[in-house]
Amino acid sequence: MTAARLLIVGPQGSGKGTQGARISDALGIPTVSTGDVFRANVKDGTELGLKVKAIIDAGDLVPDELTSAIVRDRLEQPDAAAGFLLDGYPRNLGQVGDLDAFLTGRGEALTAVIELSVPRDESISRLSLRAAEQGRADDNEESIAKRLAIYESETAPILDVYRERGVVDVIDGVGTLDEITERITAALAARGITA
Ligand code: AMP
Repeated sequence: MTAARLLIVGPQGSGKGTQGARISDALGIPTVSTGDVFRANVKDGTELGLKVKAIIDAGDLVPDELTSAIVRDRLEQPDAAAGFLLDGYPRNLGQVGDLDAFLTGRGEALTAVIELSVPRDESISRLSLRAAEQGRADDNEESIAKRLAIYESETAPILDVYRERGVVDVIDGVGTLDEITERITAALAARGITA
């Protein structure tokens, strides 16, 4: 059996939050979502929240140093010792370097990277739906466009790094929630990652 040290990557609106939560539940590992951490801090009005609110609302990236420190702290918690699922981090090559330094120091590495593949039109229509349902401050047209552009220019390149390491599974992200979960579960099982 291989330890579940996972990353889920996909454009905004690909369903990575939903699928990440399902996979974490099934494997009994915590999801570490930087977006969720930031949003919770904004909601609670913490010092961190005040610092990042304008950045997030504009659809820009929070500085790497701050983001990587938050993830390191979270991964050092006992519940992440046996495995974890990262959602939304690393998001650029600098953060890949930060995560590598941290994991290598523990003699660990990511064991699978799930790339959720969804056509651009589909993610934009899912995002508009989410904007209407959840009222997220950053789900406005300008911010969505910026986030998708940042995904293409900064986040997509991290997949090349992980592809070279042979850990990427490309999953078709179009289908019912159950179908997509099933595809991810099967890809992980092929790597020896099971509940
Ligand atoms: P998400 O929920 O993953 O789409 O994240 C929402 C917002 O939080 C992003 O648009 C960024 O402003 C910020 N954020 C989340 N994760 C990161 C990260 N790894 N690096 C920088 N900013 C991030």
